[in-house]
Formats: sequence, C-alpha cells, structure tokens
Amino acid sequence: MKEFLFCLLFGLACVTYFVGLGYGRKITRKSVIDKLYFLSTLFGAGWGLFGGLVLMQTDEDMAALFRAVGMLHIFGLLICFTHMMIFWSNVQGRMKRWTAGFVWLGVPLYPFVIRRENVAFEMTTYGMSYRIRPGAASTAYAVFCAAVAVNLFCLSVYMVRRCVRKREKDIAYSLMMCVVIVGFGCALDTTLQLLGFAAFPASTLGQFVAQMVLCKTYLFYNGSRVTLENMSKFVYYSVDEPVFLFDETGRLCIVNNGATIFLGLSAEECCKLRLEDIFVLKRDAFKFRGNKNRVEARCWQRNNICSISIDKIYDDYQDIIGYIVIVHDVTERVRMLERLEREKQRADRANEAKSAFLANMSHEIRTPINAVMGMNEMILRESAEPDTLEYARNIQNASKTLLVIINDILDFSKIESGMMELVEKPYALGTLLQDLQTECSVRAEEKGLALRFVVPEDTPGALIGDEVRVRQVLLNILTNAVKYTMKGSVTMTVSYERQPQDMVKLSFAVEDTGIGIKPENIGRLFGKFDRINEEQVHAIEGTGLGLSIVDRLVSLMNGSVTVESEYGHGSVFTVVLRQKIAGDETVGAMQDQPKRHEGKAASGPLFVAPHARILAVDDNKVNLAVIRGLLRKTKAQVTCVTSGRECLEAAAGERYDVILLDHMMPVMDGIETLEEFGRMPDNKSGDARVIALTANAMAGVREMYLEKGFDDYLSKPIEGAALEKLLVKYLPPELVQLQPGAE
Ligand code: ADP
Repeated sequence: MKEFLFCLLFGLACVTYFVGLGYGRKITRKSVIDKLYFLSTLFGAGWGLFGGLVLMQTDEDMAALFRAVGMLHIFGLLICFTHMMIFWSNVQGRMKRWTAGFVWLGVPLYPFVIRRENVAFEMTTYGMSYRIRPGAASTAYAVFCAAVAVNLFCLSVYMVRRCVRKREKDIAYSLMMCVVIVGFGCALDTTLQLLGFAAFPASTLGQFVAQMVLCKTYLFYNGSRVTLENMSKFVYYSVDEPVFLFDETGRLCIVNNGATIFLGLSAEECCKLRLEDIFVLKRDAFKFRGNKNRVEARCWQRNNICSISIDKIYDDYQDIIGYIVIVHDVTERVRMLERLEREKQRADRANEAKSAFLANMSHEIRTPINAVMGMNEMILRESAEPDTLEYARNIQNASKTLLVIINDILDFSKIESGMMELVEKPYALGTLLQDLQTECSVRAEEKGLALRFVVPEDTPGALIGDEVRVRQVLLNILTNAVKYTMKGSVTMTVSYERQPQDMVKLSFAVEDTGIGIKPENIGRLFGKFDRINEEQVHAIEGTGLGLSIVDRLVSLMNGSVTVESEYGHGSVFTVVLRQKIAGDETVGAMQDQPKRHEGKAASGPLFVAPHARILAVDDNKVNLAVIRGLLRKTKAQVTCVTSGRECLEAAAGERYDVILLDHMMPVMDGIETLEEFGRMPDNKSGDARVIALTANAMAGVREMYLEKGFDDYLSKPIEGAALEKLLVKYLPPELVQLQPGAE
C-alpha cells in the first residue's frame, strides 16, 4: 500500500514538474502570471514528492526532515496561488494588501510547524504518518490554513461576481474549483487528525487535481489573451483587404474574411485554389527573387484590377513554407486616373482651342486695325487740312485705345490659362525708365500735370529680368496715376536695396495727387473687370483689367504691389520686384525728355534710302498698301507680293536687303516660307534680313519668331516710326541716310 501511494505521489509530482518545466521553458516573455504559474508547479511537485518520501520512511527523524522540506513547498504553493488569484481577480487596495499579507504569515509560522516536538510520527498501513500535537503551534497552523482557504474562496467569489467578460468568469470558476479541491483535501487531513487518526495524504493528492485544473486555467488564459504571437491572427482576420495564405506548392490554404468576400466564395470553396485560378497572370507570380513581389493583375471572378503584393514565408531554416498574398483592389483608382487623364486631355484640347482662338482673334482684329491706323497715319502725314488732321488724330487715339484693350484682354486670358511665361534676359533699367517718362509725359503735359522721376543715380542699371513685363507693370501704374489725377503731380520714386547673390530689391513708388480711393474699395482694386469709384471714373476710359494684370504679373515675378490712398487727395502705388544684377553699370542721371508731338508722324521720315530694296509679303493687299504708304517718304524701293511662293520667286530672282514677311498666309505661311528660303540654292537675297510682320501679338510670340530664324519681329498694327526704326537697324548702313533730328 505504502509503495503504491509513494509511486502515485511520485508519478504525479513528475507530471506536475514536467508540465511546469515545459511551460517555463516555452514562455520567452514571462509576465508575472507566467512566473507564478511556473513556481506553483515546482512547489506542487515538491509537495507531492516529499509527502511521498515521508510515507516511505521508517526512521522518524528522516520523516521529520522530509516533512519539513515538504511543508516548505506547501507554504510556497500557497503564496504563489494566492498571488495568482490576486492577479486574476484584479483585486485592489486594502483587500489586496490583506490577502497578500496574510499568506506571508506562513513564513514566521513555518519554524513552529516543523518543530519536531510539535509532531508525533507513527507507522500506519499506508506508511509513515504523523499527527500535530495539540498546542499553540498546531492551533496557529490550523487557523492559518483555514484563513487562507477562506481568503482564497472569498477571492474566487469576488471574481465570479465582479467579472464582466465570459472568459474571466470561466477563469474565476476554475479557480474556485481549485480552492474547493485543495480545501477539501486539507479539511479531510485535519479532520482525521482531530478525530485521533494519523494524517492521510488527502491534501497532497487533492493539490495534484487542483494543479491540473490550474494548468487548464492557465492554458485557457494564455490562449485567449491578446499576445504578440496571436495578435497577427487578429490582424489577419480584421484587415478588410483580401489576404490569402498559400502553401509552398502554391495551393491556397487560409483566407481571411476580406478574401472570401472578394471572391464571393466560402472559405472551403477557396481552399486548394491556385493564384492563377484567381487572377489573370502572365507567369508564375511566386517565382521571384528577394522576399517581396508586386504584380498588377485582373481578377477572373470580378474583372477587378488589383495590385497584389506577395511575401515569402520562411521556416527556422530559411526554407520557403508558403506565401502570403495581400490584394489591393485598385480598380477605382485606375478608373479615376483614366478619368483624370481623359479630363486632362479634354482640358488640354480646350486650352489649345482657346489659345488658337485667342491667336486667331488677335490676328483677325489686328489686321483691320492695321489698315485703319496705317491709312490714318498716311492722312496725318500727307494732309494739310487742319480739320482733316483733327479727325485723323481722333481716329489715331481711338485706335490706340482699342489696341490697348485688345492687348489687355489677350494678356489676361493668357495669364488666366497659366500660359504666361516670363522671358528673362539682360536689360537696361535706365532706358526703361527713360522710355516710361517719355511715354507718360505727353499725356501728363496735356493735363497740366507735373511728371517727376526721382531715381538715385547709383541704382544698378544692368539687370536681368523680363523687361517687357516690368515695363508693362510700371506703365500701367503710371498711366493710371496720370489718368486719375486732374491737377497736381505724378511722381515715380525708385529706391533699391542690394541683396545677396547679386540680387537687387527695387521699389517703384508712383505717387499722385488724384481722386484717391475709398478705404473700403482698396480690397477690390485688383479684381478683374472691377472699376471702382464709378461715379468719378465713368468718364475716364478703362476696362478695370489693368490692375488685375499688374497684380498677376507681379506675383509671377515673385514681387508685390501695394496701395496707400487718401480719398480725394491721392494715392501711392508701390511695386516691389527682385531682379538679378548683370553688371556694374548704374542708371545715371535721368534726362529731361524732348516732348513728343502728335503731328510728328506728319513730319519728315527717320531716314531716306533710295537704293534700299525691301520686299513686303502679305496676303492682305490693304496691309501692303499701308507698308508702301508708310515707307513712301523714305524713298526705299518696296516690292509687294501676296504669297510665300511669290516671295521665294522674287527673292531668288533679285537682291533684297530686308524682307518684311507676314506669318499667317494661306497655302504657305511665313515660317514655312522662311524655311524654304533658307534651303534655296540660288538665292540672290541670301543676305537679306527677314522680319516677321504679324498680327499675332500674343505674349511670347516674339521669342518664338526669333527661334524660328527671323531676325526680328514687328506686330501689327504697324507704327510708321517703329517700322522706320527697325529698317534703320537692318538695312545696310551704306544705303541709309539718316535725316536731321533722327535718333
Ligand atoms: P481701369 O483703369 O482700366 O479702369 P485698372 O484695373 O487699371 O482699370 O484700375 C481699376 C480701378 O482702380 C480704376 O477703375 C480706378 O477706379 C482705380 N484706380 C486705379 N489707379 C488709380 C489711381 N492712381 N487713383 C485713383 N484710382 C485709381
């Protein structure tokens, strides 16, 4: 009997020990509960083992020794178990301190419990047993055991009542069962002794059963707890994207919910499918170098466009054991991109149509204005009738205004459609300012206004920037100042500040003593087609486009334009621009301008060149008549032809010094004519300079013509003076006799 009992206890101890050791080894990241469980299995095994050894003894001293070691394990187990229960029940505060503190009373109690004289050993049929002698120690031990048992029971009841989640309730019931089992064993032991019998190892056996229940609880707790290991499972099932797990042979084995929804099949139906059964693939997508592969494919089932990312899964020996495939349905994105591309193409086409329309409109409007202005200029030159001259001057003013409006509209459309580009090159600031002064002085003088330019002589004069746009901005501000000032003065004050990397910050402040602007209107000033102070300005010509063009041009040049104004007293418009310095030249002193007079066109020409030969090419006969008329007084020999083909024939047959070549002509346009002209083998006009003469006055066309090989560019309507200036530049100097008073 005693051998059987010993073997039973020994066997159970071994099982407990190995179970504890197994988990103790497996758990890499040990939490408190893992450590407590591991220790409790060791103590449980020790309790059983030494309890068994006591049974086997014949010598009382040896039995006392083994009992002492066994008792140590009992106390250890009680401490561990109590702490595990505290952990699981999550009891806090005083209750936690009492429960934990009480079980540790076992430590001071232990020496009394194991004292030899407190225990009486006796041999029974099931081996060596013992009885605790009545006295203080045995009473204290009994009270301790009972209190610990009650404590643990209370904890388990507390846990059952307090816990909300099912899994916690399950744990609580299991723990309660453990307490009841151990308690029952202990009660049996104690009762037997109280009845005068020697102790039977019922509590030792009971604790093994409790250990098994504890082990189950622990496993359940670990299995249902969110750990890093099982987290991936949660992630895997919770992602909405379809996730497929294929084995190393390429057969589908696991799918998540996203995948079953994506395929419209059940998890069982999905299994054993291959990647090619799901997607249209050109070749085996699992054959790739590295760890990751991304392919684009269509799904057979749903015709969706998918981006598939494939990751290899390796075992501990770096052998491939499968593939994880995550599918991103990009159908919507691809369709949207296609839609966007279509929209872009449509917008591009619309933009091109708009540009073509603008260029066309520019051409169409300018061609008749050219005729009007050209013919009018001839009246101005040739008529001696004061009334007729007065009418002609009015026509001239009206045409110029019309031209400004057309230019503004074209510029504005170009800026709005984002097609306005800056053309930066070296220019002389001094000349620019001088020109501005000249241009504004006539109008200022007419209105009796003083026009002043205050420019520091040492202002850097050689700059790099878009001269045309700088000029346009400043002219606009100056013209407005003159336009909206009835009496007083207009002053342009320039100041500058040198900046690193050869940059200069220029400030152009245009101050007038005009009508001023109400504070509430300043915000509207740069809006398109917005004229403010209508009651005052309606009699003054304007479209409300000028300042909005200024604002956009200045932003394009990374500058700023600001306004300060006092209604009824005047305004200051300040334009700040940053330009690159190209050299050491300074602006120098501004010169007083010789005043221009309206009748200038009627005075003599800039030059005469009776031997100069000029070929004018334009499909519009009126335009040719205008050119011929404008050049009449220069005595140059002007030949007119009406097509590209005729131009080539004329140029090949005779020497011409300058060819004025229209761009837009039917059959062969100006650019094609020029290309052909360059390729002609026998060309008597090989040295001729070719000037593009065109009604296409869109911003940026000048650069385009120069790029195509033209020597220069002149836009219609042609001004007699501008044409003469250009011819002086390009005619051979020996043929040109400048006239007195010419620049
Ligand atoms: P426009 O002069 O063709 O009407 P702008 O865009 O150049 O168009 O100017 C917009 C409005 O701003 C003008 O109608 C005018 O009322 C006001 N404005 C511009 N410059 C001045 C100025 N120097 N003094 C007073 N008002 C001005």
